[in-house]
Amino acid sequence: MTLSINLKLPNGVEYDQPLGLFINGEFVKGVEGKTFDVINPSTEKVICSVHEATEKDVDIAVRAARTAFEGEWHKITPAERGRLLCKLADLFEENLLKMASIEALDNGKSVSMAKGDVSAAAACLRYYGGWADKIHGKVIDTEHGKFNYTKQEPIGVCGQIIPWNFPILMWAWKIAPAVATGNVVVIKTSELTPLSALVAAELIVKAGFPPGVINILSGFGKTAGAAISSHMDVDKVAFTGSTVTGRTIMKAAANSNLKKVTLELGGKSPNIVFDDADIDEAISWVNFGIFYNHGQCCCAGSRIYVQEGIYDTFVEKFKKRIKENVVGDPFENETFQGPQISQLQFDKIMEYIEHGKTQGAKVEIGGKRHGDVGYFIEPTIFSNVDDSMKIMQEEIFGPVASIAKFKTVGDAIALGNKTTFGLASAVHTKNLETALTVANSLKAGTVWVNTYNTLHTALPFGGFKESGIGRELGKAALANYTQLKTVSMNMNGAMF
Ligand code: ADP
Repeated sequence: MTLSINLKLPNGVEYDQPLGLFINGEFVKGVEGKTFDVINPSTEKVICSVHEATEKDVDIAVRAARTAFEGEWHKITPAERGRLLCKLADLFEENLLKMASIEALDNGKSVSMAKGDVSAAAACLRYYGGWADKIHGKVIDTEHGKFNYTKQEPIGVCGQIIPWNFPILMWAWKIAPAVATGNVVVIKTSELTPLSALVAAELIVKAGFPPGVINILSGFGKTAGAAISSHMDVDKVAFTGSTVTGRTIMKAAANSNLKKVTLELGGKSPNIVFDDADIDEAISWVNFGIFYNHGQCCCAGSRIYVQEGIYDTFVEKFKKRIKENVVGDPFENETFQGPQISQLQFDKIMEYIEHGKTQGAKVEIGGKRHGDVGYFIEPTIFSNVDDSMKIMQEEIFGPVASIAKFKTVGDAIALGNKTTFGLASAVHTKNLETALTVANSLKAGTVWVNTYNTLHTALPFGGFKESGIGRELGKAALANYTQLKTVSMNMNGAMF
C-alpha cells in the first residue's frame, strides 16, 4: 500500500492524506506490513486504509525518540522549543479548514465544531510555546558553606495514548506540554481516528522540528498501545480514555519500568440547576453540557439535577430546546450533532438506553436511532431515575442524560458526589453563597458555575477519584512532564 492517497471531501476540500507511520521525521510502512481501514461514521463506508504500528514499530519509534533526546534535541534552547511550537500553532491555523474537514470526515463532528477544536489545538500549542523558556528551578538556602538549587528537567521519552473523541485537540494537549519542557514523544492515536494527526505530522516537518522529537503511530490499543505502556525505555506514559483502559495502562507501567503515569479518564458529571437560576440560560448550558460532541466528552454533564420548584417547567422547556439540536451530516452548516464514532459505541449506547427503559426510567425525548445510515442516535433524556440505575452510575459516552429532582443545597451536593468519578460538575444559580457552597463541596476537578464545557488552555483540567491522575492544561501540566532535580554543593570542603 502507498504512503498517501488523494481525498476529495464533501465540502470541496481536496488534499493528499498521509497513510504511513511517522517515525524519525519520515512516513514509513509498518515492519509487519499490516494496514487497517478507517471508517466514516456518517456513511459507515471505508475512507482509506492506514499503515498499522505493532510492537516492533513502537520499538523503532522509541529508539528514534531516545536518539533525538540524547542528541540534537538536548542541544536546542528552551526559547527555540517555544518558537517551534508557536510555528506549529501558526501552521494549524493556516490549515484550519482542511484539518477541521478531516475531523468531520473521520470523527463525525460538524466542520464548524471541528474548527473550534483545531483553533483550540493551535492555542494550546502556542500557550505551551510561551512556557518553554519560563520553566525555572529555585535556589534553596540551608546553611553557610552550602549552595543548593533545584532544576526542572524533562522526563525523557514520553509515550502518549489518545482517544477518538477530540483527535487533534487531544493530540495538542499531549504534545505541547511534553515538547515545551524538553521531552520527546511517541504518540499513538486512536485506531478509530488516525487521519488528522498524520496531517499534523507534515506540519511538524514544515515547522522544522528535528527528526525523532515527535513520532506518531496509528495502531490498536492491545498491540501498539500495550507496547508503549510496557516498554522498558519509555520513561512516562500519558493516557486519555476510559477508566478500564487507564487501569490496564497503570498496571503495565507498574509491571515494567515503573514509568511515570498520568491519566485523564471517564466521568459521570453532575449538572445542578437551582430554582433561582436563569432557566433559559441554564437550559442552554445543560443542553451543551450533555449533547456537545454527541455526548462523547469525558466531562459530559450526564446527570442533571433540577430543584423541585422549577423541575416541571425545566423538563418541558428543555425538551423543546433539544428539538432545535440539528442531528445529521457533519458537512452541513447547521448540524450540531453528528454520528457516534463507531458501530461498537452505537451498540453500547443503545444497550444503555434499553437498560434504562427496562429498569423503569421514563424516556422524555429520543431513545431511538436517527435515520438508517451512519451511527446517529437521537438526543435522549430519561426522567424517573434513581441512583442505583446503571444509566445513573456508568459513563454512557453518548447523547443520553438523566434528569432528577432535588430539594435542598445539601441534597444537591450529596447527589452530585454520589459517583466513583470526579472529573467535572456544574452549578447554575444567581446566589453567590449557593454557588460557592456547592463549588467547594463537589468532589470534582472542575466546577463550572452558570456555564458548562468551557475549557481553556490556561485552566487545569483533570480528575478527582477514579477520573484520573495529574492535570492537563495550564501551568499544572508542566509538572506532568518535568522531574525535579536537587543539586546540593559543599562550598568549603568541610565534612560536617
Ligand atoms: P474506547 O473504549 O472509548 O475506545 P479506550 O480507553 O479503550 O476508549 O481507548 C483510548 C485509547 O486507548 C485508544 O488509543 C486505544 O487504542 C488505547 N488503548 C485501548 N486499550 C489499550 C491497552 N490495553 N493498552 C494501551 N492502550 C490501549
